Amino acid sequence: MASIKGSADVVVIGGGVIGLSIARALARRGVQDVCLLERGGLGAEASSAAGGMLLPQVEADGHDDFFALACRSRDLYPSLAAELHDETGVDVELDTTGTLYLALNEHDYEEIEQRYHWQTGAGLAVELLTSAAARELEPCVSESTFGALRFPNDIQVENRRLVTALANSVNALGVKTFTETTVEKLVTDAHRITGVQTSRGEISCRTAVLAAGTWSSFICPNPTITPVRGQMVCLESKPQLTRHVLFSPRGYLVPRHDGRLLAGSTGENAGFAKRVTAGGIASILREAHEISPAVASLPIVDTWAGLRPRAADGLPVLGPCGEIDGLFYATGHYRNGILLAPLTAELISEAIVAGTTSPLLAPFSPDRFSSQPVVSV
Ligand SMILES: Cc1cc2nc3c(=O)[nH]c(=O)nc-3n(C[C@H](O)[C@H](O)[C@H](O)COP(=O)(O)OP(=O)(O)OC[C@H]3O[C@@H](n4cnc5c(N)ncnc54)[C@H](O)[C@@H]3O)c2cc1C
Repeated sequence: MASIKGSADVVVIGGGVIGLSIARALARRGVQDVCLLERGGLGAEASSAAGGMLLPQVEADGHDDFFALACRSRDLYPSLAAELHDETGVDVELDTTGTLYLALNEHDYEEIEQRYHWQTGAGLAVELLTSAAARELEPCVSESTFGALRFPNDIQVENRRLVTALANSVNALGVKTFTETTVEKLVTDAHRITGVQTSRGEISCRTAVLAAGTWSSFICPNPTITPVRGQMVCLESKPQLTRHVLFSPRGYLVPRHDGRLLAGSTGENAGFAKRVTAGGIASILREAHEISPAVASLPIVDTWAGLRPRAADGLPVLGPCGEIDGLFYATGHYRNGILLAPLTAELISEAIVAGTTSPLLAPFSPDRFSSQPVVSV
């Protein structure tokens, strides 16, 4: 493979939804020379494995910094989808039908009542449905349902189309993208980024963004990002079983426009083994069946697994690194990287271009973790 020695204004490490979104935002803010480096293919890891749900409200039991971040990012999606369509012609299938969160036992029902009360009290859009009303809305829902919350603003996007649209967009904006190119280490001089060493040569730069998802700690060991495996089962449902995303405390079903119905997922500490297992599939199908017994007759057309990038506290790691000038983190998005991509891109590109770090980023600073060295020597 040809050498890619050279220089860039900003190097983005990782071509998942986070790296692609940041590269696009930088180019749109006028950064001339953005270089995106991806070890494999663009978006081929967690960003393609995901369900594409944009659900800040569904599981939220209080107002905190993460909730604020997640809601703001979700609310950027309609304009992002429209822009990407104009720029690339790709429809990312943003589906604004909404989400039903089902209570399938008494304990679930207590949970949804509490959530309903705090969210209505906070002025958020949520409806409490009886079992009959939920089944009228989505007849496939289990007869055993105790009731449901309907979240009209918690929506979904087809994340693989999103990756395609972002890849086309960065290409059109002149971002230099190199796939099959592994960043082996950061090059620093007196606590400043001066470049990155890759499997195809060194690229000098004054700014680098770490967006390598689950593999971020191989480049910067602190903070530690660990993989949480999620398996998925893809069913075929023509006509589509449900219009809403159906969510329960134990599983979910996500309808796609083309008749695929995604059933998820698992949350496993299984290292970097990106495998589909019999136990994983069995548990997903059990939870899917609890939501809607109608899934029993649907054919399984695909299965896959992906690795969610998780920091020790489960929150994203965002913003400038206090120890190395010119290094920015955008990793640890765990279960919400699709949801958080638009706002992550806006805030990180603003921090790089304008040099101002939004107060929204402060709670997610990489510096919140202990003072182990950022770069191993
Ligand atoms: C089953 C499942 C369901 C999910 N559902 C949802 C959902 O419904 N909604 C939601 O918001 N989120 C969901 N997620 C989480 C979401 O997928 C992730 O948070 C998000 O994709 C993280 O994006 P990323 O770009 O950081 O990581 P990735 O997509 O993993 O991208 C990181 C990229 O960096 C590259 N890379 C790694 N090391 C190097 C290196 N040294 N040099 C160059 N490149 C490198 C990798 O090859 C990879 O392409 C789900 C995840 C899973 C697994």
